[in-house]
This record gives sequence, structure tokens and C-alpha cells, in this order.
Amino acid sequence: MKHVATTVAGSLPKPAWLAQTQKLWPEWQLDGAALAEGKRDATELAVAEQVRAGIDVVTDGEQSRRHFVHGFLESIDGIDFTKIVRKGIRADRYEADLPTITGPVRRSRSVHVAEARFARTLTDRKLKVTIPGPMTIVDTLHDVYYADRKKAAFAFADAIRAEIEELADAGVDIVQLDEPAFNVYFAELEEWGIDALNACVRGVACSSAVHVCYGYGIKANMDWKASLGGEWDQYGIVLPLLAQSSLDEISIELAGSRVPPDVLSGTGDKRVAVGVIDVATDDVETPDDVHATLETALRYIPAERLIASTNCGMAPMNREIANRKLRSLVEGARLTSFTA
Ligand code: ZN
Repeated sequence: MKHVATTVAGSLPKPAWLAQTQKLWPEWQLDGAALAEGKRDATELAVAEQVRAGIDVVTDGEQSRRHFVHGFLESIDGIDFTKIVRKGIRADRYEADLPTITGPVRRSRSVHVAEARFARTLTDRKLKVTIPGPMTIVDTLHDVYYADRKKAAFAFADAIRAEIEELADAGVDIVQLDEPAFNVYFAELEEWGIDALNACVRGVACSSAVHVCYGYGIKANMDWKASLGGEWDQYGIVLPLLAQSSLDEISIELAGSRVPPDVLSGTGDKRVAVGVIDVATDDVETPDDVHATLETALRYIPAERLIASTNCGMAPMNREIANRKLRSLVEGARLTSFTA
């Protein structure tokens, strides 16, 4: 008997000695060489927690990034982090301080490759690295250079593809592109979003995934979710489009959401990482809760293509609660066995 495989969407909470806790854009608590060392130590802990919990496909917990989008952009040319503009993002759902694109976007050096190489030394398990997708990147920046979201997105896709090629060489098994913006901009998704996504993974030597979610458990997202009505039909549009993409895996949220589970039938022949852990509540799911969510997913997706995951990143969560949730995730997946 096999059990449903497990992973996490990406980030885990950072230790309090490394960064401010329970914040989306936390300040580092260290600097210089101490910060570099602290990031590595926190990565060891994040990987160890996942291995201890029994997660099959682990990440570095994004311990070296302040934010899942801006952490990637800090190493990309053409972006000025001193020109900060406060703007509404995700269709004005919330305001954020955004750096500005002031010149051609270029990846003149590696971004997360050294971090991935270090994480690779910590475990023999499958290693996943997350990178923001091109639409989510352009939605999290102010742009005075391209002044065209599609053009900017394809410039980022080139940078992302170069990064993924190096990550694959470093022994990363799967790269996941995070595209929460896909759940917001449906016209752009259809027009160029999938093409930009495909451009990121063209010819790369590792497996690929795309994560589309309803966001972290921050107040702006909770308010947005409350406004979406009794049935969240966004995936009904998004998943059939992703099913046509060239990526191998789709990561979505299901636990504690008002996502109608029959949207899962729109995932084509992709592997589907289904969120069985709600990151927007501190209530810890029981293994039986996790098992029940997986059983629901199994009505639409065969067990060999199903992966149990978290709904979204856990970066802004309480660390102990996040660890308890990881353990429930694995125990619930182990209750969900099948014969191959
Ligand atoms: Zn997410």
C-alpha cells in the first residue's frame, strides 16, 4: 500500500531571532555575516522540521527571503529598491510598498541558487524551490520602464527560465511558480498568462509546478474571501487553462475554503497538490480532517496524481502551530492509502 504523497506550498515561519514574526514583510533581526549565517541555520531547522514531520517533497521554507516576490527581485537588474511607491495590488485588494522597474529586466547573477545548493546538502528527499511567477511579479511592482504588463512579464519569464536551468543543475527536483495573481486577472491569464508561464519552463531539466491560491491568512485576504460569496468559482476558470499549460503540477487550496471540489475535474492529466491545511486559521486540523479533504479530492483526481499540501505559504504563521499542522498533514495523508 502506498499513501498520498506530501509537500508544503513553500514558506514556513521564520524563527524570532532571524526576523520579525507573523509579518508578511518582516524586518531581519540580524545583519551582515550574522544574517547570512542565521538564514542558513534557519534553513537547516526548516528542512529538519519537514523531514521530522515526514513531508516527502521539502522546501527551504523560504528562510532566506524577506518576501516571496521581492526576495526574488532583489537580485534582478532593472529594479530600483530605493524608488518605493505605495500602491494597491491584486486588483487593489491591499496596498503594498513596491519597488520600481526603471530599466530592462535582466538576471545577471543567480538569485536563489546558492540557497538551493545549501538546502540540497541537508536532505536526500525531493527538493522543491519556489519562485514568483511573471504575472504575480509585475503585479507586485511599480513599472515606469515597460509600462506594459505583458511585455514586463515576458522579460521576467526569461530571467526565471535562466534561474530554473541553474536550479535544476543544482539538483533541485521541482520548481514551483507562485501565481496568486492568476486568481484575480482572468482576462490577462487567458491572453498571455499561460504563455508567460510556459516561457518560464521551456526546455528546463526539472519538474515544474504552478501554485494559485487565495493568499496568506492576512486580514486583507480574509476580507476579500468574505466578499467572494458562498462558492468560489475562480478555479473553474483558472484550472482548465492551467491544464493546457506545459507545467507538470498544479498546486491549489481546498481546506477550509469555499472552493467547490468539482473544479478539480478541470485539472486534466496534471499532478495536483491539494491544500489540506488552512493557513488562515490557527486551529490545527486533525489527521481525520486532512484525510476527509483528501477523500473529497479523490472523487475527482486519482491517488497517483494527488499530493497533500498546505493551502499556501505559512510564512506569517505562529511557528509551533505551523509545525503541528505539518504533522497532521502527514498523518492524514498516511490514513489515505491506495494500491498502486
Ligand atoms: Zn499561496
